[in-house]
Amino acid sequence: MIMKENVFIMEHPLIQHKISMLRDERTGTNEFRRLIEEITVLMGYEALRDLPLEDIKIKTPIETCYSPMVSGKKLAIVPILRAGLGMTGGILTLVPSAKVGHIGLYRDEETHEPHEYFCKLPAPIDQRTILVLDPMLATGGSAVAAVNFIKQHGGKNIKFMCIIAAPEGIKHFHECHPDVPIYCGHLDRCLNENAYICPGLGDAGDRIFGTK
Ligand code: URA
Repeated sequence: MIMKENVFIMEHPLIQHKISMLRDERTGTNEFRRLIEEITVLMGYEALRDLPLEDIKIKTPIETCYSPMVSGKKLAIVPILRAGLGMTGGILTLVPSAKVGHIGLYRDEETHEPHEYFCKLPAPIDQRTILVLDPMLATGGSAVAAVNFIKQHGGKNIKFMCIIAAPEGIKHFHECHPDVPIYCGHLDRCLNENAYICPGLGDAGDRIFGTK
């Protein structure tokens, strides 16, 4: 994993292999969804490396001991609608009792500015590790807006996870939220004139949900 200024870029061969399969335009909805979830599991393993543990009393067949366990109550996942939903199952596979909030943002077709249309976060949010999910970090506008919103609600320990990022998105996000680590599966070349990531994978939401 390459780490620079709070940006973690995954290098694991399994993640790279699965991202290449995602990119392929011949990959259909079913397989695309499954791959997004698998990649999220692999990335979540790294991103949740510092999840807080608590010692729980456990009786083994031999004796009673205190042994560390992850408290699901301490983790909140916040997918950015709608493409972030595709990643939610992957994190829930790792931490089934995590709480799930939602932030709905849509991108204005012309200005590419994010507008919020829905927000529901687990309360209280201030004591939790909050993992914000969006497979594509393009301009960074939605991710910045989502994290602004979570911070306004008292969120402190926030991480952002995406599968593919553009350098423009990383720069913008990092300038606005230098305290929030970015976990990224692959850093792509650039954005095109329509703010799509190149080479990217197209519209992640459309490919996850089979819409066009
Ligand atoms: N959102 C997507 O789904 N794809 C991109 O390339 C950029 C933003």
